[in-house]
Amino acid sequence: MRKKIVAGNWKMNLTLAQAEQLINDILQAGLRLQDGQEVVVATPFPYLLKAKALLKNNPGFYVAAQNCASEKSGAYTGEVSAEMLQSIGVDYVILGHSERREYFQESNAILAKKIDLALANGLKPIFCCGEPLEVRKAETQNEYVAKQLEESLFHLTEEQLKNVVIAYEPIWAIGTGLTASAAQAQDMHAYIRSQIAAKYGREAALRTTIQYGGSAKPSNAGELFACPDVDGGLIGGASLVAADFVAIVKSL
Ligand code: PGA
Repeated sequence: MRKKIVAGNWKMNLTLAQAEQLINDILQAGLRLQDGQEVVVATPFPYLLKAKALLKNNPGFYVAAQNCASEKSGAYTGEVSAEMLQSIGVDYVILGHSERREYFQESNAILAKKIDLALANGLKPIFCCGEPLEVRKAETQNEYVAKQLEESLFHLTEEQLKNVVIAYEPIWAIGTGLTASAAQAQDMHAYIRSQIAAKYGREAALRTTIQYGGSAKPSNAGELFACPDVDGGLIGGASLVAADFVAIVKSL
């Protein structure tokens, strides 16, 4: 049985006081997670320790960083290494978000290095993939996503892949209010799973959690999560509103 995970990607939002409030509001909702369900909050770096402390006695709740460095350590001013994140108890790290790819020039090759460092330091990568609008219009999204998987993930061993979560995030659906239809999400998730099966075998494919991300909200989460190959969501905007985030978790 693979895990179903709802992760909130807060991006560059909130002050420390607001971050604490949001986590407390989520906890107040008294969510009862079933076996195999997880909730992850991906806070900005300065709040990770606090988030970890607030979530401490809540089984099934984890924290994620939104990025880590592609180098191990040393003279890289402003960077945060996977080892540092591990040392403060971070569980997951989002890697390859389309905003990082676009604004910070993160290539598939750089992401492969980040994936390796994350895994070597006991962090579970949430690896984001997904196509821009022009690729979707040209109907070449499968090839586009296959290349992202091939160049950033498929050098891993089957054992390593067990600790990787994949998030399919069509770029045209991120922060735009445009959601992929349940059918579009299901098609791509099934395709991603078939690519994993071709490389690592069916068992590995069935074990891999594949989240959907892109304008997921309470009104569409239920339909998306009901798709057989959609194993939860990576939530941006709606993760900043406790009631919305909680409603999305309840849709799992
Ligand atoms: P959104 O963002 O839910 O605001 O579209 C999703 C993401 O960027 O992870």
